[in-house]
Amino acid sequence: MTTVLGCIADDFTGATDLAGLLARSGVRVSLRIGVPIEPPSGTSPFEVIALKSRTAPVAEAVAQTRAALAWLQHAGAQRFFWKYCSTFDCTDEGNIGPVAEALMADLGTDQTIYCPAFPENGRSIFMGNLFVGQQPLAESPMKDHPLTPMRDSNLMRLLTPQVTRPVGLANRLVVAQGALALRARLEELKADGVAHVVVDAVADEDLYIIAEACRDMPLMTGGSAVAMPLPALYLADGTLSADAPKGPSPDVGKSTIVLSGSCSAMTNTQVATYIATGAPAYQLDPMDIAKAGTSGVLAWLAAQDLTKAPLIYATADPSSVKAAQKVLGTAAVGEMIEHTLAACAVAARDAGARRIIVAGGETSGAVTKALGVTQLDIGAEIAPGVPWTFCISDGKQIALTLKSGNFGAETFFTDAQEKLETL
Ligand code: ADP
Repeated sequence: MTTVLGCIADDFTGATDLAGLLARSGVRVSLRIGVPIEPPSGTSPFEVIALKSRTAPVAEAVAQTRAALAWLQHAGAQRFFWKYCSTFDCTDEGNIGPVAEALMADLGTDQTIYCPAFPENGRSIFMGNLFVGQQPLAESPMKDHPLTPMRDSNLMRLLTPQVTRPVGLANRLVVAQGALALRARLEELKADGVAHVVVDAVADEDLYIIAEACRDMPLMTGGSAVAMPLPALYLADGTLSADAPKGPSPDVGKSTIVLSGSCSAMTNTQVATYIATGAPAYQLDPMDIAKAGTSGVLAWLAAQDLTKAPLIYATADPSSVKAAQKVLGTAAVGEMIEHTLAACAVAARDAGARRIIVAGGETSGAVTKALGVTQLDIGAEIAPGVPWTFCISDGKQIALTLKSGNFGAETFFTDAQEKLETL
């Protein structure tokens, strides 16, 4: 079916977050990992392309994003959403502004909005300044981010050096007056030649007003939250018909594998909680794999009853992780574990597992790659920002959930399985 909204995200977890919020509407949402090589077919009303462009050189980020736009235009989309982080993560050179300007040029539009606010997660914008909880962005832990340290909280000041055309503000006082007032403000700014408009939002109501005022703009940009109201608005005004395809909930059976490569505090608790339920579990030992390879874990896996949803984990406390990194090297041990868990995913799938639960952002990347998955249909949400997804791997329909770091409740691994059973 023709795509109503084409979305481009600058990283994978951002794309899943956006796709999950759009899918709350019940309408079918597809996520593609990278720009598809094949021309569009079997597309969904909402398409999200996940790029890896956040910290890429500007020219590369622009080229990737323009290729994604062209694919989405082929899919029939006439409105587009450029998704970046709710903490406006960018390097000094970009990439948010240059990418937005390139998209605007390709779309022949002379104005867009910037709204990274996500009030539910403590990200709000007032008078153009972004807050993380009660702290201005530049006083929040984001000031020390290893790749994108944010040293200014004012979005207009951050954006101005990144773009060639004027930057302006539609402040909370205007937003609070409703969609008509906001539209009038945008027109006024447009008449003054302002192409890039930062829009304040401190509460969910603001996001609804902004989405309503901007739903017909060729390009909107922001965090995932400002896009959340769009499906309901498109259904209400007939842009999306009431019989639009729904999100999938195929029955994939009960054979399950749980793979955990995240070492975050929450994942450590989730692993311990899951083992305490009596689930079969195998702990990967980096030293052991470095010496003897993956045959031990693969033999253990082959002997498992997959309907008992066994767990294979490398998850360990910070001191064990540091010890392994010291001996084997940080990058090398990380890659080794990722490859091992990816090999386990393939072996489990070949042994009949159709539900694959993965913890860890990088680990998820390695697993999807090994499974040859490039398209995911978004299903029910297990925890905020973590949906079940459905995809084809080696010709088989599988359910896959990819949880990064600190997401999910302590009972996430059982929550995920129960969620599929109640669909
Ligand atoms: P998160 O989403 O929590 O950041 P990731 O999968 O992105 O999780 O990153 C965790 C990294 O730590 C991966 O590269 C993984 O291979 C590595 N890792 C996992 N377990 C261990 C361990 N026991 N020792 C050292 N590194 C590990």
